[in-house]
Amino acid sequence: MTGKRDGDEYILNGEKMWISLATKADFAVVAVRTNSDVAKLSQGLTTFIVEMDRPGISRGDIHGKLGVRAGSTGWILFQDVRVPLGNRIGEEGEGFKVTMNAFDHGRYTVAAGATGLIRASLEASVAYAKERESFGKPIAHHQLIQEKIARMARDYEIARLLYLKAGWMKNEGKRNTFETSIAKQFATDASFHAASEAIQIHGAYGFSDEYDVERFMRNARGAMIYEGSSEIQSLIQADYALGYRKDKAVRCELPAYDSQAWQS
Ligand SMILES: Cc1cc2nc3c(=O)[nH]c(=O)nc-3n(C[C@H](O)[C@H](O)[C@H](O)COP(=O)(O)OP(=O)(O)OC[C@H]3O[C@@H](n4cnc5c(N)ncnc54)[C@H](O)[C@@H]3O)c2cc1C
Repeated sequence: MTGKRDGDEYILNGEKMWISLATKADFAVVAVRTNSDVAKLSQGLTTFIVEMDRPGISRGDIHGKLGVRAGSTGWILFQDVRVPLGNRIGEEGEGFKVTMNAFDHGRYTVAAGATGLIRASLEASVAYAKERESFGKPIAHHQLIQEKIARMARDYEIARLLYLKAGWMKNEGKRNTFETSIAKQFATDASFHAASEAIQIHGAYGFSDEYDVERFMRNARGAMIYEGSSEIQSLIQADYALGYRKDKAVRCELPAYDSQAWQS
């Protein structure tokens, strides 16, 4: 998407597919290219908050999704949408930093949600394994089933600790891109594995919509893609581990969480 300054306004143009709540949101945060003369694309981006009832905006839903069917996902088209200067977030050219900072928060919520999905898969598997019998005993007594359940229980604990660590760092006002990336990637990969194994434990019934586990697996799959795919998380983590990437000072640091301030 592009943005062109015109006096005290910007004119935004372009289209973006795969936007959560595209047809439901009252506001959107959009990153657009305002300068194409810079060496790196990331230096030419600017971010805006846009009211979705502005003239020139059209939007629609995407159908036929594998999962997240209860959630709205769609597309947004901007045609000469005029946005006042006051809607700009930060300075011109700071859009990449603003967007990356937003990812630290979005990825955190995905990590927490995926952790819940591991727990849901575990609880469904435990209940079914104790109820269903094969070879004269509940399948929970078979060691191969226990191995699957043990991994779900382990992964739930790891995923939970990872997102809690990232959350603690946010509350302390510490930079957390690396930790949030690990939490997001681990929880989403593990939730897909847990949901898939939950289907296995349910046998043929896991393959039907009579039980929740098939929905768990379809929903888990999406989270490995959105908010930065698992591959992109590996690139981020490798860059930190190799020392190619370090947290640089930013113009506005987020303050530490102050519970007193929220209560007053
Ligand atoms: C349900 C849903 C909701 C979404 N909501 C939003 C939203 O609200 N806002 C928004 O902006 N986007 C949203 N997205 C889009 C999502 O963020 C992108 O789909 C995601 O970032 C992947 O980009 P892509 O689809 O263009 O895949 P591509 O970039 O085409 O990548 C295809 C594959 O190649 C891999 N790949 C790409 N580059 C590299 C590399 N350098 N090294 C190794 N592997 C690589 C990817 O990991 C992926 O596996 C949503 C997507 C879904 C499915």
